[in-house]
Amino acid sequence: MRRALALGFIITIGIVAAWLPRKDDALAAQARQAPAGTAHNGKAFRFNKVRDGVYHVVGTGALAVVGNSSFIVNDDDVIVVDDHVSPAAAWVLLEEIKEVTNKPVTTVINTHFHFDHAHGNQIFDSRVNIIGHEFTRQMLLSNSIGMPLYRNYVTGLQPQIDDLKKRLTTESDAATQASLERQISVAENNRAAQGELKPTPPNVTLTDRMTLYRGSREIQIRYLGHGHTAGDVVVFLPREKVVMTGDFLTAGLSNMSDSFPDEWVTSLDQLKTLDFDTVLPGHGEAFTDKAKIGYFQDYMRDVWTEVSRLKQQGVSAEDAAKRADLTKHRAHLPITGPGVPLIGVQRIYDLIDQRARR
Ligand SMILES: [Zn+2]
Repeated sequence: MRRALALGFIITIGIVAAWLPRKDDALAAQARQAPAGTAHNGKAFRFNKVRDGVYHVVGTGALAVVGNSSFIVNDDDVIVVDDHVSPAAAWVLLEEIKEVTNKPVTTVINTHFHFDHAHGNQIFDSRVNIIGHEFTRQMLLSNSIGMPLYRNYVTGLQPQIDDLKKRLTTESDAATQASLERQISVAENNRAAQGELKPTPPNVTLTDRMTLYRGSREIQIRYLGHGHTAGDVVVFLPREKVVMTGDFLTAGLSNMSDSFPDEWVTSLDQLKTLDFDTVLPGHGEAFTDKAKIGYFQDYMRDVWTEVSRLKQQGVSAEDAAKRADLTKHRAHLPITGPGVPLIGVQRIYDLIDQRARR
């Protein structure tokens, strides 16, 4: 009898222990099984520490990650801003963050819905808060992968692999062969990773602003108006004077496929009102030169004017993409000759048509 009681007691303890959240669950904050396509050699990410506990994350090329992310290590938790191009890339990011801190990732912020910033969302445990603009949620719930930007990207993967393989068969230089083999492996892993993609929306949304408090750290999530998409947010740390801008402001030219170029110029004026001295962009390296905001505004203003003028003359979007001449901005932006990406020109043509119909 006593033995039966003791056994019952042990079983009860066992059940309670299994029910209680395990410590490693909280630490991992991610699905148990690694997703497809995580294989890589060496570090996938370079962490650029810009302040105590504030890191800007740039891919090394060992794994397809595309956009940058950032993470903030607080007293008790970690906040990740953007989570790259695939579940595999986000998984490896979390693995590498564990080498910096064993605090749990409790929060992810999506600066916008684009694939290279939000397609890692699915690996996070349901207890993790994924925060984004209401528009970001709508897009990831509906047709984000049907949008031209992702469609072009994902349909381009196989031709890219075929092309690399073709080049490998004719290449005789050993170093170039090794580099091609590495690129093929990265691209094939990415293709496998994209195969498991399930766009996952934010489970916490905002439309204007939200502030997170972590000890003495204040983390503002701000929507500054139409820009790169209809729902970009920036993450602003007022005490550290750091802002994470996603693609609202990058180190170079930001893509325009879902943008509002004319309104973007005005929204960037709002960014200028924030008191920061370091920008962690969604593409390119961190920078401190705030004049870059003005350079990009000037460029965007001229893109809008030039493309609108060509449209008014009846020029096709394809021709306008070749002819639009923004070379006067080459001193400050990566421009090598005349032309604007077609996907951006098509967007401007669509916006003008939409507004004319109103
Ligand atoms: Zn983007």
